[in-house]
Amino acid sequence: MDNLRTPPRPLPQPDALTQPFWDAAGKGRLVVQRCGGCGYYNHPPQPLCDRCSSRDLKFQPVSGRGMVYSFTVMRQRNVAGFEGEVPYVNLLVELEEQPLLFMISWLPGGATEGLAIGQLVSVSFERTEEGMALPQFRPVVD
Ligand SMILES: [Zn+2]
Repeated sequence: MDNLRTPPRPLPQPDALTQPFWDAAGKGRLVVQRCGGCGYYNHPPQPLCDRCSSRDLKFQPVSGRGMVYSFTVMRQRNVAGFEGEVPYVNLLVELEEQPLLFMISWLPGGATEGLAIGQLVSVSFERTEEGMALPQFRPVVD
């Protein structure tokens, strides 16, 4: 199986709703859609605020800091484009700006040593060969 060619990792497909998020990432900035009516952060971007249904939504910079809310180690080769990456870690990150404001990230190499729920993380941007910048969260090292 290791000698079989695997498909490339899938890339995000920006649309009108998510393009500002990807544009900011390309400049090394993490932004989240925020409601002008109630202040709630919505992620992924929504056409209406999840809390108050307002359409007054704008992207605002956030700190890029958060904590590991949960994680899982992927050991099976059943996700297209990631067959050659196992083991790796899927991270569910809660941003510090708002409870339950989540982003998904991954850690290559199954690096679980010292990783724990509640671990502080910060964003960095992974540049792809195709020119995209993917926000990824990495543990904060003291
Ligand atoms: Zn709102």
